[in-house]
Amino acid sequence: MDTFSPHTPGCDLLRKTWVRLIIVNTACAKPCFTLKHFGLRSSPNCDSLHPCQTLDHLMKCPLEAPVEFGDLKCVNARALEWLEQIEV
Ligand SMILES: [Zn+2]
Repeated sequence: MDTFSPHTPGCDLLRKTWVRLIIVNTACAKPCFTLKHFGLRSSPNCDSLHPCQTLDHLMKCPLEAPVEFGDLKCVNARALEWLEQIEV
């Protein structure tokens, strides 16, 4: 089992990026679909005109650099670029 340690990938990131990484990895992100579900947004649509912006869609959205969970796990350059772009 993985546990948090000073050697955990990403723990040396800027706080904003580190928090986004944790939010995504713990499935606590709030894409438009979730905001609509809780009545905090009128539409689940993505700015890319996709009808349902879920976390899965955000990871493939044509408006963002694509990323996979493997990228996020090892916090590579692709993950960092994506984490800088997204709003979660
Ligand atoms: Zn989109």
